Amino acid sequence: MQKQTSVNYSEGKFQPIIDKCEGCERVVEESGNQYCQTYLFPKAKWKLGICNFATHAKPEIIVTNVRVNPLKAAKRASKR
Ligand code: SF4
Repeated sequence: MQKQTSVNYSEGKFQPIIDKCEGCERVVEESGNQYCQTYLFPKAKWKLGICNFATHAKPEIIVTNVRVNPLKAAKRASKR
């Protein structure tokens, strides 16, 4: 028996993506429909919050501002 290597997204196992998936790099298109390369049921993935496979959306990260010495920053800028 020959092993099937390519994935057939329109086979029925894969559910089309939802609007929240738009922009994600894991979206693949087949026969006019868009599917997720990684997850069979994208809708379920988003039910509990942000999809952890998403490449376009990340949970909010608290960004701490790094203190910049204005004098040093000006020096660095003038070197360019
Ligand atoms: S990885 Fe997540 S966000 Fe990206 S297409 Fe799949 S289900 Fe959607």
